[in-house]
Amino acid sequence: MNLNKAKLIVQKYGGTSVGSVERIKEVARRIELRKQEVDRIVVVVSAMAGETDRLISLAREMGDTPPLREQDVLLSSGEQVSVALLSMALTERGIKARSFLSFQLPIVTDERHAAAIIKDIRVEGLLHSLQEGEVAVVAGFQGLTPSGSITTLGRGGSDTTAVAFAAALDADYCEIYTDVEGIYTCDPQIHSFARKLKKISYEGMMELAGLGAKVLHNRCVELARKYNVKILVRSSFNNNEGTWVCEEEEDMEGALISGVTYKRGEVKISVLGVPDKPGVASLIFIPLAEMGINVDMIIQNIGRNKAADVTFTVPEEELEKALQAVQQVAAEIGAEGVDCDRNIAKVSIVGGGMRSNPGVASRMFQVLAREGINILMISTSEIKISCIIDVRYTELAVRILHDAFELGGNSV
Ligand code: ASP
Ligand code: MG
Repeated sequence: MNLNKAKLIVQKYGGTSVGSVERIKEVARRIELRKQEVDRIVVVVSAMAGETDRLISLAREMGDTPPLREQDVLLSSGEQVSVALLSMALTERGIKARSFLSFQLPIVTDERHAAAIIKDIRVEGLLHSLQEGEVAVVAGFQGLTPSGSITTLGRGGSDTTAVAFAAALDADYCEIYTDVEGIYTCDPQIHSFARKLKKISYEGMMELAGLGAKVLHNRCVELARKYNVKILVRSSFNNNEGTWVCEEEEDMEGALISGVTYKRGEVKISVLGVPDKPGVASLIFIPLAEMGINVDMIIQNIGRNKAADVTFTVPEEELEKALQAVQQVAAEIGAEGVDCDRNIAKVSIVGGGMRSNPGVASRMFQVLAREGINILMISTSEIKISCIIDVRYTELAVRILHDAFELGGNSV
């Protein structure tokens, strides 16, 4: 891909990239350089590093459950600061720039405060600004409901803002600048052999993001796939090549596995001795769905006595709510009891090559068994296999799987 030939690109700078006055000036310098190669640049920015967290704790000081509508008004101010500062820094360098808040465009979302979904974005204002030769600097993460309330897209949502604009403007691609250099075969913090990928498919990236790789907002990849927006993930702290997230290409198929991920922060709940009758599963899961609790893995074992154990995982922060609901159902259906385990982690391997290569799962299980790591739950999709294990073995499991599938070495 020729980076210099682009006509219109969207760049997104995350919190650490604009984390201080110096960093914002550095981003302005980088934009100035790119401006010599690319006609039109739209820049989406996040709040300065730590700012959104600071605002959330301020909100919590007003009460345990601040009204989400007002919390969104508060949180969106973080991005308002950074678009203004970056536009000033650009102007200071002699680059024409104009900031845009969501209501000025607007970016229309649904009414779900703190987790809003973009419904429509208007680009006339941006196109006009670009036509004037300006760099358009857009506040990420925020939106506006049709009735005029400010919303936010969920933590990390600026990535999604950037991809939505890249799609709406039919940009050549979307660059996402962060503090890591790209997408790695596993977390470089826990394995020195982690290797940066040159490319990864949308599908592979979606699995990695959903399974704990924290580089990109999950919804942004979904959107990129839907509108075929090429994403380049790279660091704003150096000029090294990043990772392309794009449609699966032939040369990706060579790789059996593209990465190993892990996720902590989920808990396992088991409903024991559930009578084996039609409808019991729905009795257990309907209340959870109604409370908006995200259930991840589910397994059911039928014992010889015709009673089943139903085990599933939920996010740690939902444990109390989920337990309450499940205990009530368990009593109603005559189950033997409810059990929970907080000390678990999910370790997953992801890769398109799994589709055409049998035996990947058994190899994974063998590798874990060799180290005496017990598998508590398993789930699979076409391109991933996840195992729930004891949280103590998370890092060990990532390292041995990374080595066993030979993910280190030369870049693909
Ligand atoms: N500032 C928001 C957050 O910290 C959005 C973002 O960074 O993408 O979650
Ligand atoms: Mg971010």
